[in-house]
Amino acid sequence: MKTLEYSQYYTEEKRDFVTEGKFDFLNLPEAVASLKSEVPIYVIYPEVIKTRAEYFIGNFPGRVMFAVKANPNVTVLKCLWDAGIRHFDVASINEVNLVAGLLPEAKMYFMHPVKSRKAIRDSYAMGIRHYAVDSMDELNKIIEETNEAADLVIHIRIRLENQSAAYDLSGKFGASEASAVNLLKQAAHYSSRLGITFHVGSQTMDSSAYRKALGVTKAIIDSAGVPVEFIDVGGGFPVAYPGMPSAPLSNYFSQIKEAMAEFGLDHLELVGEPGRALVAEGGSTLARVELRRGNDLYLNEGVYGSFFDAGTPEWRYPTSRIGMNKKHETIAEYRFFGPTCDSIDTMVGPFHLPANIKEGDWIEVANLGAYGQAMATHFNGFQSDITITVPGFPAHLKFVENNT
Ligand SMILES: *Cc1c(COP(=O)(O)O)cnc(C)c1O
Repeated sequence: MKTLEYSQYYTEEKRDFVTEGKFDFLNLPEAVASLKSEVPIYVIYPEVIKTRAEYFIGNFPGRVMFAVKANPNVTVLKCLWDAGIRHFDVASINEVNLVAGLLPEAKMYFMHPVKSRKAIRDSYAMGIRHYAVDSMDELNKIIEETNEAADLVIHIRIRLENQSAAYDLSGKFGASEASAVNLLKQAAHYSSRLGITFHVGSQTMDSSAYRKALGVTKAIIDSAGVPVEFIDVGGGFPVAYPGMPSAPLSNYFSQIKEAMAEFGLDHLELVGEPGRALVAEGGSTLARVELRRGNDLYLNEGVYGSFFDAGTPEWRYPTSRIGMNKKHETIAEYRFFGPTCDSIDTMVGPFHLPANIKEGDWIEVANLGAYGQAMATHFNGFQSDITITVPGFPAHLKFVENNT
C-alpha cells in the first residue's frame, strides 16, 4: 500500500496515485458552464478522499473508522470504502440505515452516548454490537432493549477538559472519572468486551490532547480492575484552514502511539474515528456572486447552507474564482453575505478573491468536504441538491503545488 506524508500529498508526481474512475465533469469551469445552475454546486474530489483515506489507513496506529456525520454523501461513503475504510461510526438510526443499505459489509459502531430505545432495538437487529454509553441509565436501556444480549461490546465515553479544540465537545457527553470506573464495573457483568472512548474536540490544534486523554483512560482502567479490550481515541484530527496552522497528522499519530506504550496500553485494540480530517479537503462548494457592494459579496450560499462555520465561528476557507489563474490576479479581501434574510447569515472572513470579481462570477470555497453540505438546511427556500464529482485536486491544493 502506498502511504504519503501529510504535507507531501499535494505534489504533482503523486497524481499517478489516483483512480481512473468516472467523473461527472473534467474540471470546474466545464461544470459551471454546462450546469448553468441557479443554486450552489457541491463538489466532491474522489481522488483527494482516496488519498486521505489511504494516508490514514497506512499511518494511524490502529483501526480507522469514519465518523459518518462529517459527510454522509453516498459518493463520499463509497470512495472511503473503495480506499479501504471498513468501519463506520454512526450516531442515528438514519445513519445506520444509510450505511447498511449502501455498504452491506461495513461494520458499524453506534457511538452516540444517548440513543432512543427503538434505535437500540433496530440497530441490534441489524447486527450492530458496539455501543457507547456515558451513564448507568443508558447502559440499562441497552441491556433491556437487547434482552441482556451476551455479545455486546460496551464503550464507556469519558469526559475530558477541552484545551485546544476549535470545537469543544466536552460539555455535553462523557462520564466523570469516578462514574466511568463504576460504569466499567457494571458493564463487565453484561458484556465480556469493553472499551473506553473519548473525543478531544473537533479540530484539535494541540496533539498532546490525545496523550492527556490516554492518561485519564489509563487511570480509569486501573481503578476499575476489569479487562478492557478497546481504546477509541475518537476524532478531532485537524485540517489546514487559513489562519489555523496545525502540526502534521503524523505528529498526532506518533503522540498516540507513544502514549499507548508509555501507559502500558499498547496491547489493547486502538480505534480512531476521524470525520473532518478524512474528508474536509475532498469537498468544495461552488457559489455565485449575486451582488457586489464594495468588498461585500452577496452569494447564493451562506451559513444556513454549507458555510455554517464561516458564520459565527468565523472560520476562513481557501477561496478562488472559477477559471482564475492565481498567479496573474490582484487579490482583495472580501466579506460574504448568504442569501437568507437573517443577519447572522454573514461571514466576515476575510476571504481572498480577485480584485475585479463581479456579479455572475462563480467562486470555489474549499475544505468543505466535512461539515459543509452535511449541515445545509432549507431555510428561506434556499437549498441545493446538486453534487458533482471532478478529478484531481481543488484549486488551493494546486496553488500549493505551484509554490513548492
Ligand atoms: C463528531 C464525532 C467524530 C468526528 O469528529 P471530527 O472532529 O470530525 O474528526 C467522531 N466521534 C464522535 C463520537 C463524534 O461525535
